[in-house]
Amino acid sequence: MKLIEGQVAVVTGAASGIGLGMATLFASRGLKLALADIDEDRLNAVSDELAQGGAEVLARATNVADAADMQHFRDAVLERFGRVDILCNNAGIVSPFRPLWENPLPDWERVIGVNLWGIIHGIRLFVPGMVAAGRGHVVNTASMAGLIVVPWNGLYNAAKTATVSLSETLRADLEAAGSAIGVTVLCPGLVKTAINSDPTIAALIPPDAVFLEPADVARQVVSAIERDQLYLATHHGSDELVRTRQEQVLS
Ligand code: NAD
Repeated sequence: MKLIEGQVAVVTGAASGIGLGMATLFASRGLKLALADIDEDRLNAVSDELAQGGAEVLARATNVADAADMQHFRDAVLERFGRVDILCNNAGIVSPFRPLWENPLPDWERVIGVNLWGIIHGIRLFVPGMVAAGRGHVVNTASMAGLIVVPWNGLYNAAKTATVSLSETLRADLEAAGSAIGVTVLCPGLVKTAINSDPTIAALIPPDAVFLEPADVARQVVSAIERDQLYLATHHGSDELVRTRQEQVLS
């Protein structure tokens, strides 16, 4: 699907990092923006800046893990724009690094809540309207941790692997229904964003690690949308991982 001026893009986790990178690039291509983030102050600052640059923006403080919050966001988007062309379920958080069995229940609930239920609510609430309209593209942000096992990162691995699977299933179901809607699952490696400044995570990253900029990831996302590419893994050596995954899914 070609990105065309006037289309409407929904981005969650839009106040920072990869989500902000996508929102900024979409705005530069003339898309209208519906942005959600739990950090209201930062979201409003981002929204004001994009609007000053000429973009039409709806910004709503939203917790993607909360069904009612997400429903209010969806209702506000449809009331304002009446349609959604691009849906980016992107908001996410890191999980504490520790052996899987040592994670307390609140950490399970928090990480699965944001990183998995956030994706589920996005699909549940926005995709039916897109199917009815017969057009659009869904981008779900997973991670390299959706394709490999990162030790001590079990909560995050679980949510991101499930995000890869949900994306594959969504694509298969849409194809089976004869729908033209595309799906991309974004599986980044290290990207220079606030998520990696968490001290536990930062301490585990080797000093020579290579980071991508959010703007680079955003460019790759746009290209994946325009080429209708299912897997988008942005780190070194990811081609092999994606090939293996494709073989598993197709076999
Ligand atoms: P970031 O921290 O810069 O941005 C995440 C945004 O999500 C923040 O603005 C935050 O306020 C928002 N958010 C957090 N919880 C939320 C909630 N409950 N509801 C709504 N918004 C919420 O981090 P980022 O790196 O841009 O992360 C974006 C996505 O990319 C995440 O899903 C993350 O898991 C994934 N990812 C990032 C990297 C990386 O290296 N940065 C690598 C792989 C995957």
